[in-house]
Amino acid sequence: MSTPKRYFATACVAGLLIAGALPAVAANAPEELIVYSARNEQLIKPLFDAYTKETGTKIQFITDKEGPLMERLKAEGQNSPADLLITVDAGNLWQAAEEGLLKPVQSSVLETNIPAHLRDPGRRWFGLSVRARTVVYNTTKVPAAKLSTYEDLADAKWKGKLCLRTSKKVYNQSLVAMMIAELGEARTEQIVKGWVANLATDVFPDDTKMMEAIAAGQCDVGIGNTYYFGRLKGKDAQLPIALFWPNQQGSGVHVNISGAGVTRYSKHEAAALRFLEWLSSEQAQNLFADTNLEYPANPAIKPDPAVAGWGTFKMNLINVSKAGELQVQAVKLMDRAGYK
Ligand code: FE
Repeated sequence: MSTPKRYFATACVAGLLIAGALPAVAANAPEELIVYSARNEQLIKPLFDAYTKETGTKIQFITDKEGPLMERLKAEGQNSPADLLITVDAGNLWQAAEEGLLKPVQSSVLETNIPAHLRDPGRRWFGLSVRARTVVYNTTKVPAAKLSTYEDLADAKWKGKLCLRTSKKVYNQSLVAMMIAELGEARTEQIVKGWVANLATDVFPDDTKMMEAIAAGQCDVGIGNTYYFGRLKGKDAQLPIALFWPNQQGSGVHVNISGAGVTRYSKHEAAALRFLEWLSSEQAQNLFADTNLEYPANPAIKPDPAVAGWGTFKMNLINVSKAGELQVQAVKLMDRAGYK
C-alpha cells in the first residue's frame, strides 16, 4: 500500500510545480467536483449553484438512497469518479467510513465550525446539519408538565398512549444506539420494553404518519424528528401537536446529523475539502439546514425563524458516531424488546 501512496504524493507535488509554471489562467482553470448525494436534488442543488457562482468550481452530482450509493462506491473502487458523499444519519456515515469509502481529512476550518460531537473522531465525515429527535405530543390531551424524559415514556402512565415509528428506520436505530452509549444496554432494554408495552397501536412507517396519528388523537405522545413536525405545521398551523424538549435536566435532546465526507479515491481531494469547508461556513450553513427545517451544525449560525420559534434546547453531547458503532447492538436489543 505504501508504494502507490508515495507515488501519488510525488505525482501531486510534480503537478503543483508544473501548474505553478503555467500562465495564471490555466492554473486557475475551474475545477469540477462529483458528488454522490442521498439528499435529494431540491435540497442540494441550490448549494451547488451557490458554490459554482462563488468559486467557478462546477459540481456534477447523482442522487440515490444511501444503500445504492455506497454499493456503487464500493463497486467502482479506485476508479470511482466521486469526490464527496453526502448522506443523512451518523449511522450511515459511520457505515460508509467503516467500509473504507471515505478518506480522513485534516481541516482546522471544519474543526472550528463543526462541534466535536457532530463529526467523526477519525476525521472521515462531518455533520453539516443537525436533526433533533424529540418528543411530540397532542396539546389537547397532554399538559406539557406531564412530560419529562425519553425514559419516562416507558412508565405505565403512558399505557396505550404512545406512538412510535418502526424500529427498521435508521433514525430509531441511532436513537437507541446512543441511549445504549449513555445508559448501558440493560437500562436501555428496560426502557424500550416499556415503550413497546405502552404502544397505542402498531408502529408507523414514517414520522409524518405517526405525528398525524398524534394530531388525530389516536395516541397522546411520540418521538420524531422536528422537521417533519415543521412540515405538518407549515401545512396546517391549527394541528393540536407541539414539540417538547426532553431530558433538559439531564443529558439533553438526542440529535443526529446529515453530513458529508471526501471519498477515499477522490482525484480532487484538495478541491473536495475546500467545498466541504465551505459547506460548514456561514453562507452555506443556512442553505443546507433551512431548506429542510433542520438546525445548522455550525453553532455560530442561527436556524430558520420558523425553526427558532420552536425554542432553544440543550442537546445531548455524545458523539454521534456511537449511532454507527452500536447500531447492531441496538437492532438486536429492539428485536428482543419486541419493537417491530
Ligand atoms: Fe427524514
